Amino acid sequence: MQISSTCSRCGAQHTAEVPQSVNAAVSPELKERVRNGSLFTWNCPHCGTSNLLKLPFLYHDPTEKLMLVLTDAPVNADALPDGYTGRFVRSVGDLIEKLKIFDCGLDDLVIEMCKFVTAQELGKDVSLKFLKSDGADGEMTFTYPEKGQMELLAVGFNVYEDCAGILARNPQVRDAAKGLAEIDQAWLSRFFR
Ligand SMILES: [Zn+2]
Repeated sequence: MQISSTCSRCGAQHTAEVPQSVNAAVSPELKERVRNGSLFTWNCPHCGTSNLLKLPFLYHDPTEKLMLVLTDAPVNADALPDGYTGRFVRSVGDLIEKLKIFDCGLDDLVIEMCKFVTAQELGKDVSLKFLKSDGADGEMTFTYPEKGQMELLAVGFNVYEDCAGILARNPQVRDAAKGLAEIDQAWLSRFFR
């Protein structure tokens, strides 16, 4: 798809050919460009500013049976094939976060629960984002903005296990996440407060 974009700093026009969807099994190199965000950015040749492209986008991994849909518009959730996890995201940052969570073999519902309890423990109204996990013996790392900087926060993997337990005791949460769902803190707050 041809995307036209205007540089946020100098106003220069730019047209780029950007795939509207990436199939991770067919194009692993494009998956990497989704993961590092470079598929969604362009550098202005006039002033060097890095600009974010705004576009509807579908990420599809048939091996993992995962679909991530980036869009502003409402989505017809019936289109999801059987056995798939479908997630609906509003920003490139949210798309990359989901991809990192699923690449680590983690459950994004549990991660949202981890963010919820961690923010409560911090006693701050912060917007946490998953960065990485060192696996079951290690830690998870989250980021959050504070005073214009990105802070890193390490959380023990036991928090993940505790949160998985909370969700196991509240099966209505997982039931509500079936189909193509937008899973974030606002969604989770319908069940826990
Ligand atoms: Zn520019």
